[in-house]
Amino acid sequence: MNHFTRIVLVNPSHPGNIGAAARAIKNMGFHEMALVKPRRALSHEAYARAAGADDILDNALLFDDLAAALADCQLCFGSSARAPVDPHAQHDPRSAASLISQLDPNLKVALVFGREHAGLTNDELRLCQYHIQIPCNPEFSSLNLGAAVQLICYEVHVALTTPTTPINIDFDYAPQADLTRYYQHLEETLSQLNFLKQDNPRQLIPKLQRIYQRAQLSTSEVHLLRGILTAVQKKI
Ligand code: SAH
Repeated sequence: MNHFTRIVLVNPSHPGNIGAAARAIKNMGFHEMALVKPRRALSHEAYARAAGADDILDNALLFDDLAAALADCQLCFGSSARAPVDPHAQHDPRSAASLISQLDPNLKVALVFGREHAGLTNDELRLCQYHIQIPCNPEFSSLNLGAAVQLICYEVHVALTTPTTPINIDFDYAPQADLTRYYQHLEETLSQLNFLKQDNPRQLIPKLQRIYQRAQLSTSEVHLLRGILTAVQKKI
């Protein structure tokens, strides 16, 4: 888990949205919220909408401008519903999340969100190396601030917590020839058992092959399976 993600809200107007963002931040396993000049103090409504994520609100960092909020962050993602200022920097939430999940977890990442009525300025977006646009109805593309925080934090959370299948280069994958011999041995044994009927094979061997291919067997596992077949043949 990347514990260094900072969620930054620039000039938020509605305490309720700040509370909803705090809730989303905590739900998705993040801790740090930064507020750049919120227009109103955190009210009862902010705490009500935070629904228990009071610690996120209480510990929110306060800054006078976005540059100060991002000063110690190495990678900043600014989210905007508007057309991209730089198409090369553009990501959707999922690809941004995938990028974040591949970073050194010690890097400090910022996810930046704009004002409810006007979003982020171009100057503010230029402080971010990457931009995130949530794909949606082009005729109605502006999400509620709390919803945008929820959606982007969710994608980052999933990308950070879903284990990717490691490519284990040391694993003793069985060579294909061993597998071919195993499949022949299996076919022979199943025929002897009359489970495989030569006059009606019904794709049995290809179906079983698919199961074994999915299992990505090691050489010793293939030997084990062949040992079982030999034991079965001895019994017959
Ligand atoms: N009219 C504003 C929308 C403000 S909504 C604009 O032009 O961006 C408040 C914030 O929620 C936005 O600044 C942005 O950070 C986020 N947001 C809302 N809809 C979004 C979308 N479709 N893609 C990315 N971020 C979005």
